[in-house]
Amino acid sequence: DGFELISQIRRTHAMDQLAIIGLSGSGGSVMSARFLKKGANDFIVKPFCNEEFYLRINQNVEMLEHIESIRNAAIKDHLTGLYNRRYFFEVGEKLFKNAQRKNFDIVLAMIDIDHFKQVNDRFGHAAGDKVLRHVSAIMTSRFRASDVIARLGGEEFCVLAPGMSPAHCCDIFDTLRQTIASDPITVDGNAINARISIGLTATLGPTLEATLDHADQLLYQAKNQGRNRVVFG
Ligand code: GH3
Ligand code: MG
Ligand code: MG
Repeated sequence: DGFELISQIRRTHAMDQLAIIGLSGSGGSVMSARFLKKGANDFIVKPFCNEEFYLRINQNVEMLEHIESIRNAAIKDHLTGLYNRRYFFEVGEKLFKNAQRKNFDIVLAMIDIDHFKQVNDRFGHAAGDKVLRHVSAIMTSRFRASDVIARLGGEEFCVLAPGMSPAHCCDIFDTLRQTIASDPITVDGNAINARISIGLTATLGPTLEATLDHADQLLYQAKNQGRNRVVFG
């Protein structure tokens, strides 16, 4: 029945993810209270007019959309739509500990745009912002939804990829590097070619922080060796 259905749905879908509107012609307010208690967001008593039906649906959908936009503002970077630093550490710790405990593969990459200051200096800050969005969009398109891609700050990004094979990760990230290098973005008639350097590791340190430090050192080596490259270690 309706109550059992709501209980089952609520085991996997919270009220702020999926709205349920109860509908019944009998039982009055006792019935609506029972539905709400089981996890319905709203309740409509039959008979109802079309307008009430549509209003309730719209209000519930709008509420879900508001909640989603508030959640996104808290965990995502406004400019690029990638996850922010705070969320990266929050979810990264969990993924990292899980991989450590179960001995699962996990790959961590620190990515930094090369000579990005020159992009701002030559083409302006707004062009720099467009490059950041462009590079972010390419990254998003090349990884799985389960990979965590974050903008840690400025022109620095981090990818945490659970389940990515250590044997293939160099190819995957080098393809990303090449794709970005060969896909210029045109801003005010200027074709801007972004280049990235990547520090990449599949060796877990004692903590996520320590593993990040290690990837950061590899990134530093990539910069020193001439930029626009992947250093794996
Ligand atoms: P390197 O190859 O060594 O990484 O050189 P770089 O110029 O990329 O590095 P540097 O750290 O000297 O400069 C980073 C620049 O990124 C400086 C800063 O103004 C710019 N920046 C940081 N955040 C933003 C942003 O949100 N938008 C824009 N347009 N620029 C940003
Ligand atoms: Mg840089
Ligand atoms: Mg930097």
